[in-house]
Amino acid sequence: MLRYVIIGTGVAGMAAAETIRRQDTVSPITLVGDEPHGFYSRPGLAYLLTGEIMERQLFPVGKDHVAALKLRLVQNRVVEIRADAHQLEMKDGSTLTYDRLLIATGAGAVRANVPGRDLEGVVKFDSLDDLRHILKLVRRTRSAVVIGGGITSLELVEGLLKRGVKVHYFLRGDRYWENVLDETESHIIEHTLKDEGVQLHFRTELAEISGKSGRVTGVQTADGRALPCEMVAVAIGVRPRLELAQGAGLKTDRGILVDEHLQTSHPHIYAAGDAAQVFDPATGKSLLSSLWGPARDMGRVAGQNLAGGASAYRKEQPFNVTRLAGLTTTIIGPVGTGGADQDLLDITHGDSEAWSLLPERGLGSVIAAQAGFDVNHLRLLVGPQTLVGAVLMGDQTLSQPLHHLITRSVDISPSRERLLQATSLAPLIIDCWDCWRKNHADPIAI
Ligand SMILES: Cc1cc2nc3c(=O)[nH]c(=O)nc-3n(C[C@H](O)[C@H](O)[C@H](O)COP(=O)(O)OP(=O)(O)OC[C@H]3O[C@@H](n4cnc5c(N)ncnc54)[C@H](O)[C@@H]3O)c2cc1C
Repeated sequence: MLRYVIIGTGVAGMAAAETIRRQDTVSPITLVGDEPHGFYSRPGLAYLLTGEIMERQLFPVGKDHVAALKLRLVQNRVVEIRADAHQLEMKDGSTLTYDRLLIATGAGAVRANVPGRDLEGVVKFDSLDDLRHILKLVRRTRSAVVIGGGITSLELVEGLLKRGVKVHYFLRGDRYWENVLDETESHIIEHTLKDEGVQLHFRTELAEISGKSGRVTGVQTADGRALPCEMVAVAIGVRPRLELAQGAGLKTDRGILVDEHLQTSHPHIYAAGDAAQVFDPATGKSLLSSLWGPARDMGRVAGQNLAGGASAYRKEQPFNVTRLAGLTTTIIGPVGTGGADQDLLDITHGDSEAWSLLPERGLGSVIAAQAGFDVNHLRLLVGPQTLVGAVLMGDQTLSQPLHHLITRSVDISPSRERLLQATSLAPLIIDCWDCWRKNHADPIAI
């Protein structure tokens, strides 16, 4: 019998606990977390902010699930890992002994490093408590400044807008999310935001947050402009939580360094999720991730290995389905300016591709399909033999075929020239997908 302890009750920690229990039905599994609300969907917070879902819908599992798995939940903050003694110390002074430990402490929002950042009205968007705090402040907020160039900042913009707040959106560069989207894609988002009344401020940096009686009253920009507001929402990135690992003498870089089996530099300690920086044998690099799916997958692999397995975590091609300014957007593979190499050709199509082109829907498949958008946009990155990446905005008809073709590196060379010349991509993509499915696909995997 082994004593398993997991620090962190996020998706990585929960997935690990479930996996351990499947393999070891008797040993005690303890999850220690300082999150007062336990396990919930953090991606779902954006939908709660816009008012589209109720708070209870954030919780994918109930107490009965935890009880059925015989998990022990401890709400506390771990302040120290004593690796040699196999012991944890908690904030309240209590201790916990482990035989196998998983660190799944996630990543926390980076704070703005400017004067005034502690004023009431400066908010982040990292947890359910942050969201509750925003909803409380929103009642007396007429105008807000949102800072940051990625998905979370846009979720804040849209959520605040839905709550009736006038939004100023500060972007450092010339356009929205320029390291991932191309110019057209950025402009699609920017136009939608402008139509909705968002004031976009390009090449604008926050220099100072001003306040009165401890509360935000406005901001100063680096180029000397002043803007009144009652809220400053900051989403400028996340940083893995490393303090525990560093204190325990584990090797760290930007995250907690783990090998492909998710084992840290200490043999009985593993790390998974946003906190882990995983060695990828294919590239020889150690990579961070800050997405739900990879965190869950890492949790599963770590769980297997904590219970005595020897599974390797293989980082999948990036795959993210999100909503940008109301537009469902799927991003597959390395589509950003940093990701494309010179051999890749970029094809962009702006017209709607027909949903009816999909052959024999079925085989137990779930096809993400959405129609009726004003804007439909598809960008494909075509490598010498395979499709390397894609961005789909609006109509999602091709999202599953492209996901399969890209993540399974399907050889599209017989259709490559036709793809590069095509005025309508959908029939060709569907043909390639159909052909691959007939020859190779395992229907269950689809
Ligand atoms: C608003 C928002 C929207 C998002 N949207 C998306 C999306 O659309 N798609 C997507 O793929 N991803 C999205 N993400 C990211 C995704 O939620 C994370 O990648 C994922 O939750 C990481 O899981 P994790 O288990 O590694 O860490 P976390 O979920 O961060 O869990 C770690 C837990 O450990 C706890 N902890 C940390 N230190 C200690 C300690 N010392 N003692 C005890 N407990 C500790 C933390 O409080 C936390 O509860 C979003 C995140 C946010 C905040």
